[in-house]
Parts: sequence; structure tokens; C-alpha cells
Amino acid sequence: MQPNVVLYRNIPDDLLALLEQHCRVTFFDGINADNRAAFTQALAEAEGVIGVGVKFTDELLAAAPRLKAASTISVGYDDFDVAALTARHIALMHTPGVLTETTADTIFTLVLCIARRITELADNVKKGQWQASIGPDWYGSNVHGKTIGILGMGRIGYAVARRARLGFNMNVLYYNRSAKPEAELTLHARRCALDELLAEADFVCNVLPLTPETRHIINHETLAKMKPSAFLVNGGRGASVDEAALIDALKSGVIKGAGLDVFEKEPLPVTSELLSLPNVIALPHIGSATHETRYEMSKLAVLNLLAALKGDVSKNCVNPTAFR
Ligand code: NAP
Repeated sequence: MQPNVVLYRNIPDDLLALLEQHCRVTFFDGINADNRAAFTQALAEAEGVIGVGVKFTDELLAAAPRLKAASTISVGYDDFDVAALTARHIALMHTPGVLTETTADTIFTLVLCIARRITELADNVKKGQWQASIGPDWYGSNVHGKTIGILGMGRIGYAVARRARLGFNMNVLYYNRSAKPEAELTLHARRCALDELLAEADFVCNVLPLTPETRHIINHETLAKMKPSAFLVNGGRGASVDEAALIDALKSGVIKGAGLDVFEKEPLPVTSELLSLPNVIALPHIGSATHETRYEMSKLAVLNLLAALKGDVSKNCVNPTAFR
């Protein structure tokens, strides 16, 4: 008998067809207040779930007693309690690698745009405010030759560092749990303590996964260690930054500006003070959002789920011991 699967994010038709060849699929086009009860009910029979953007609370896990595999269409898996899944022998699959370069493109776009005030200046032109050559009030800051400090020198951190070093001749500092010899060898990246990175970097770029250790790693205290001329770029997870502390720092000139793809609460509430600050660029969590990359992520997530449901967790599994 084919396994029951709950799909909670729209995926391309050919990938849905592939999933349906092997599974009985119950589909939800995203989860909201209106369909949450039906989603929870569907979990009762589910052996697999696939999607993104739903926090798998204890309550949801308890509603899914037959679950064997969860496949997230993302590399980050902070929506799941890995220990709780492992204890229930549920494999957690994710999509590392296929989104690395696209996400690094987004993050480096933020570096360039915040430094050169691209969104502010482009808005001025559209509003008809380009009446004369701009003066120093509107000048930006150089990117090339400056120092970038990467928090989290993993796959994406390395891809950002490569752009910075090879494309823009930047010095690369990094803060990471383990040393990364390849980055040191190929990009002359230097591993340092967080305080040293914050004090020296012109661009502090967060690409850490969200964990209890990295939650609010950027806070009042760490922001105060940055240079007043420095920019913060967050392409990891919103909750790695204490947003209230960031707003204070941006308003009082503790740092110069911030380019943000991710937020503590998403979508970012329209009432957020971040939106009224000229020295902020806010993007709607688009790190991997290209047609090509989102397709590859969905495809990998489907293949991951099909493999896990057959007992194969040899690739892209966060907790391969779940099945032992
Ligand atoms: P990755 O290859 O696993 O890299 C994560 C790096 O962070 C690793 O080098 C890891 O060190 C380091 N690290 C983890 N916890 C740490 C800690 N407490 N202190 C210091 N270093 C720590 O992951 P990735 O593929 O680069 O993705 C990174 C994150 O980016 C994802 O988890 C996700 O949250 C975020 N992301 C965002 C978007 C977006 O749309 N904005 C898109 C994709 C991903 P070790 O190597 O020593 O373990």
C-alpha cells in the first residue's frame, strides 16, 4: 500500500505527479487559521510530510502518530525539534547545497545595496527627485577592499566569502564553531573570536543556523562592539538578531545600516519600526527565491521524502540515527 503523505506547500506539477506516483497525497496550499484544523486532522494518517513554513510543535507531532519522515523544502530546519523527532524515530530531511549560490547572491546583493544606498537613491529617481548631481549627503560607502565578517562559515558563508574575496578583494574574517581550512587556504579567511570580528568588520554578515546558541547572538551588547561605520547583513534567520536592539542601534548611530532578508516575525509586521528607517533594506525572505533554485529545492525535497519513506536516509538527513 502506498504511504500517506501530507504536502503543505505548492510544488511544480511534474514534482507533484512524481510524488503521487508513489504516495497518496493530501495537499494544502500553505497552512493558515482556516485550514489548520484540517491539516492537523490529515496528520493523523500521515507517514510523510513535505513543505516549508510550518512550525512543528509538540501538539502537531502528537497529532501525527504514524509519521516516519518529514521533508522540509529548505536547508534551515529550525521549524523542527530534532531531538523530539529522533525520539519518535522520525527522519528529518532537508535541502543543503542546491540553494547555496542563490542565497549567497541575495546576501551579497544586500551588502552592495546597503553600502551604496541603492534602494534609497533609486526611489528618489522614481519620485522625480533627481534634479542635479547628488552631493555628499547621498554618497555611499565602498565595498571593495573592505573587511567582511562572516558569522557561520558553512556552505552559504563560504559562497558569500568567495564573492567578497575573489570578486571584491575584501578581507574575510569569520566566526564559526570549527575552523574552515578551505576558506583559510583559498580565500585567506581568518577565523576569530566574535568580539574581534565585530570590532574589525565593515560588514557583519550573519549566515548562522538558528539554534538556542545563536538566538539573539546580535543583541545590544554585540551591536555596541561594531564600528559606527559598519553595516549588518542578516541572511540567516531573523531570530539570530534581537530586532528591538537593532532598531535602537540604527536609530542612535551605533551602526550605520542594515540589510535584512529575514526577521523575527515573518511576514514582517507593517507596523515594524524597521520599515520607517532609511538606513534599512528589508527583503521578504528571498534568499533562495529564483525559479531555478526553488524548483531544485522542491525536487530534492520530494526525492528526499521518497528515499526516507523507503528507509534510505543516507543523503540529506539531519538525524540519520532516527531509524536505528
Ligand atoms: P551550513 O553549511 O550547515 O553552515 C552553518 C555553519 O554555521 C557551519 O559552518 C557551522 O559550523 C556554523 N555554526 C552552527 N552553529 C554555530 C554556533 N553555535 N557557533 C558558531 N558556528 C556555528 O548551513 P548553510 O547551508 O550555510 O545554511 C546556513 C543557514 O542559512 C541555514 O541554517 C538557514 O537558517 C539560513 N538560510 C537562509 C536563507 C534565506 O532565504 N535567507 C536561505 C538558505 C539558508 P560547523 O561546520 O562547525 O558545524
